[in-house]
Amino acid sequence: MSEKAIKVSVVIAAAGSGSRMSSNMPKQYISLCGVPIIIRTLSVFEESPVIDEIIIAARSEDTEYIASLVRDFGITKAAAIIPGGASRQESVHLALKAARGEIVLIHDAVRPFVANEQISAVVQCVQSYGAASLGVPVVDTLKRVSGDTISETVDRSSLVSIQTPQGFKTSLILSAHEHAESSGLFVTDDCALCEEMGIPVKYVHGSRMNIKITTPEDLILAEGILNTTKKKEGDTMRIGTGFDVHRLAEDRRLILGGVEIPYTLGLLGHSDADVLLHAIMDAMLGAAALGDIGTHFPDTDEKWRNADSLVLLSEVRRILEKSGTYVTSIDATIIAQAPKLSPYISEMRTNISRTLGIDESAVSIKATTTEGLGFCGRGEGIAAEAICCITMR
Ligand code: MG
Repeated sequence: MSEKAIKVSVVIAAAGSGSRMSSNMPKQYISLCGVPIIIRTLSVFEESPVIDEIIIAARSEDTEYIASLVRDFGITKAAAIIPGGASRQESVHLALKAARGEIVLIHDAVRPFVANEQISAVVQCVQSYGAASLGVPVVDTLKRVSGDTISETVDRSSLVSIQTPQGFKTSLILSAHEHAESSGLFVTDDCALCEEMGIPVKYVHGSRMNIKITTPEDLILAEGILNTTKKKEGDTMRIGTGFDVHRLAEDRRLILGGVEIPYTLGLLGHSDADVLLHAIMDAMLGAAALGDIGTHFPDTDEKWRNADSLVLLSEVRRILEKSGTYVTSIDATIIAQAPKLSPYISEMRTNISRTLGIDESAVSIKATTTEGLGFCGRGEGIAAEAICCITMR
């Protein structure tokens, strides 16, 4: 039977809250070189020719967020996002009920480096044997300990470290889950449910690159793996510049870098006229050769009247992400005779780095006067210029 004669679903287990990562964000949403880990994982299955549909088991409070990521990153095979249960086992069980394939793979959301060939190998093995899992031989010498004392060396010749995807005939794994539920059995992976029922599971040799990202150390390894498989940095970097001017007027608020600054005058414009953010957005769009803010947020559109430019900045971030790029650094200068801006620079940097999801050390903001010369010097307006560096993922 050819692989495509039958339908294959994959359940992505993404309902974890990531207690081992020192981040307040669940690990599956942490950005790995500009792209959330879960999207990197979903993309592998999106591109796999043997996978027909993707079912995502998510925390119930995250289903909307995942839906927006799936839309933004063009994951077309995502068939359902199922609110998970109290445990991984329960979440997977709920998602399995939505799977329409005769074969189903179950995969961790935080294993983005599974290779296409490995997915195909598991599917092929399930076709022949009914149940299969990726794994790798144990390479470390294993010891049993009692307290902090080593008591014996464990023979590792028959041991493997189990990974995902694990694959099953859908009817088989569903009945294994139902059996577990009715008998109150809780296990840490789906193979164990089959073992419990005496169903043999085939071992498919995987790769040590297929790591599960659960700790901050794993994140460092993941960046390393990604960078070795990526083109050289020099081939993937782009630079853009931006420049903007707004007139100072009475009865307007002065907002720069998302910070409201007390002053007798404010900047005039269709939006909040945040000249600094406008220059930065133009630099970002320029780096990606995607036009300018006038193209994306025309001032003839009522939608953008008095718009908060930080909201526009987060839109521009999404536009870049969709184009496969992300910001690596920004340097900008505000040109104004008055007021004094240095007390507000730090808050501007915080606003911008938070909105772009990058480190504050990658966002530089400076301010200068023009020694009284020109329109800025006469206090008629404020200008800003920015340069932005982006990387293609
Ligand atoms: Mg402007």
